Amino acid sequence: MDTDVFVAWFEEAARLVRQDRDRLTELDAAIGDADHGTNLDRGLSEVCKALAGTPPETPAQVLTVAGVTLIRRVGGASGPLYGSVFRQMGKVLESPVTLAGFSVAFEGGVVAVERLGKAALGDKTMVDALAPASRALALAVKDGATVREALDQAARAAAEGATATIPLQARKGRASYLGERSVGHEDPGAASAALIMAALASVAA
Ligand code: ADP
Ligand code: MG
Ligand code: MG
Repeated sequence: MDTDVFVAWFEEAARLVRQDRDRLTELDAAIGDADHGTNLDRGLSEVCKALAGTPPETPAQVLTVAGVTLIRRVGGASGPLYGSVFRQMGKVLESPVTLAGFSVAFEGGVVAVERLGKAALGDKTMVDALAPASRALALAVKDGATVREALDQAARAAAEGATATIPLQARKGRASYLGERSVGHEDPGAASAALIMAALASVAA
C-alpha cells in the first residue's frame, strides 16, 4: 500500500461523499442538524486540495495532512472525530505499509475517536461502523487474507455496522438529545464511515 493508494483513498472518499452528500444530510436532518453531508463534502475536498498542493512523500504524511485538514476545516463534530482517526494513524504508520501495519494503525485510529468522543460500540455513532471494520481487518490479517479480501471484509463490516445503527437509540452527539426519537434512523456518521471504508476497498484492490 504505497503513498498513491492513500492519496487515491481520499480522492475516492471525497467522490463517494459528494455523490451521497444529500443522503447524508437527510440522515442528519432526521436526527441532527442537517449538515453532515455538506460538512464532510467540504472537509474532504479541502483534504484533496491540500494533498494536491503539497504532494506527500509517505502514507503517514497523507494521513496526517488529511487529519489536520479535517480538524481545522470542518465545523461539525465529525471533523475533529474523523481528523483524530487519520492523525493518529499518521503517527504510527511506518513505510512500507503492510496490511498488518495498516490494521494496527487503523485500530489505534478507532481507539482515538472512541476516546475523543467518549463513544463505545452501540452508542449510534461513526464508531458503530469503524470498530467492526477494524475488527474485520484484524481478523482478516490473522487469517492471512490478501489486501483486497481484508479491505473488502472491512468495508462490508462497516456497511453492516452502519445499517445496524437504525434500531439503536443515540447516546452520543446531537442525536442523543432526541432520546427515543432517534430510534429508526441510520446514524449519518456511521453511514459516511461506511463510504470511507468502501473508498479504501475500491482503490486498494
Ligand atoms: P454535528 O453533529 O456537529 O452537526 P456532523 O453532523 O458533521 O456534526 O456529524 C455528526 C456525526 O458525528 C454523528 O452522526 C455521529 O456519527 C458522529 N458523532 C457525533 N458525536 C460523536 C461522539 N461523541 N463520538 C463519536 N461520534 C460522534
Ligand atoms: Mg450535523
Ligand atoms: Mg452541525
